[in-house]
Amino acid sequence: MKIKVNQETCIGCGACAAVAEDIFELQDSGLSHAKVNEVPEDKVEVVKEAIDVCPTGAIEEDK
Ligand code: SF4
Repeated sequence: MKIKVNQETCIGCGACAAVAEDIFELQDSGLSHAKVNEVPEDKVEVVKEAIDVCPTGAIEEDK
């Protein structure tokens, strides 16, 4: 599973980083980005949770 944070729709609420701190972090811009492109197998569930809690649907699967 590959992911990316859409910088156009992220509002920097920090919910994704709260749920999956190993994967997401807020940048100096105030917006979130994924620290990894390829999600490790043992983090897939928590990333799916982050996708669910993101209020703007900014976390996208990267094909
Ligand atoms: S939960 Fe969504 S809107 Fe909030 S910081 Fe993360 S990617 Fe951005």
